[in-house]
Amino acid sequence: MRGAVIHAPGDVRFETLDDPEILEPTDAVIRTAVTCVCGTDLWPWRGLDATDEAHPMGHEYVGFVEAAGSEVTSVKPGQFVVGSFATSDNTCANCRNGWQSNCVNREFMTTCQAEYVRIPNAQGTLVATEEVPGEEFWPGLLAVSDVMGTGWYAAEAAEVGPGSTAVVVGDGAVGLCGVIAAKEMGAERIIAMSRHESRQKLAREFGATDIVTERGEDGVARIKEMTEGIGVDSVLECVGTGEAMRQALHSARPGGNVGFVGLPHEVAIDGEELFFTHVGLRGGPAPVRRFLPDLIDRVLSGRIDPGKVFDLTLPLEQVAEGYRAMDERRAIKALLTP
Ligand SMILES: [Zn+2]
Repeated sequence: MRGAVIHAPGDVRFETLDDPEILEPTDAVIRTAVTCVCGTDLWPWRGLDATDEAHPMGHEYVGFVEAAGSEVTSVKPGQFVVGSFATSDNTCANCRNGWQSNCVNREFMTTCQAEYVRIPNAQGTLVATEEVPGEEFWPGLLAVSDVMGTGWYAAEAAEVGPGSTAVVVGDGAVGLCGVIAAKEMGAERIIAMSRHESRQKLAREFGATDIVTERGEDGVARIKEMTEGIGVDSVLECVGTGEAMRQALHSARPGGNVGFVGLPHEVAIDGEELFFTHVGLRGGPAPVRRFLPDLIDRVLSGRIDPGKVFDLTLPLEQVAEGYRAMDERRAIKALLTP
């Protein structure tokens, strides 16, 4: 089979690789229906994460079960399945508590920009749809496997509730999905922080009521101005930089909450500063598996369409162009079709 391999910053190649096989009785192998490039894939592309040796890429997937190990009974060959970037047995204490992305048997997916993918912990990780969904639903279900699940978790962690006010920091795919989540959870006012016109438009389509283009201290000042100096109930931090985290902390009202899901790069929080904000903080890799059944239903019923974050579709063999387009901000998120 063929798949994407990163060799060095800016050097992703589509290569012939060994066909994935069942290595453990808990594994499955899927044939990829669609996959994509994630914002976090840009860290090694830009050289901000080191690439010491060439390795496959990709952690988002939906596909068809090709083969299942002897201990996998929940899905069978031919079924269309949705998973998560973090695999989980869905039975350990952390899973039972709802923190499947911290499963004691967790493995992070790293080989999904390929024609076939081995899924560890398949029994606990994969959710099959009742029937094979129409192709028009594939992008939305793919989004559920990572960015929509992560946006949902950001809103939950920020304790978005009916009638609440929310700020979304970050207008990438996760931030935009965070807008969808905040709307679904009943937020009355959703302020999206974005400087890009196409993303502002999508944010509004997804339910944002206001757009703030300022960043940093100016962004915080603008949020305060809009909330009588108080701040909002919930902030979804979907970037992962120090500036974004500060912006999030200071946009929340005393007693408000920040859900942070941007993978932190050089984020340092001052204890005293946090102490005096009275703001609650929760973040981490989203326990997407917990949300899968609900989010799959919302997509298949047409209630939400997070697939709209894919504004570029490429054949899988042009995967490098997907990285380039996202790096140059010509695309929000690139969908790849095998
Ligand atoms: Zn577990």
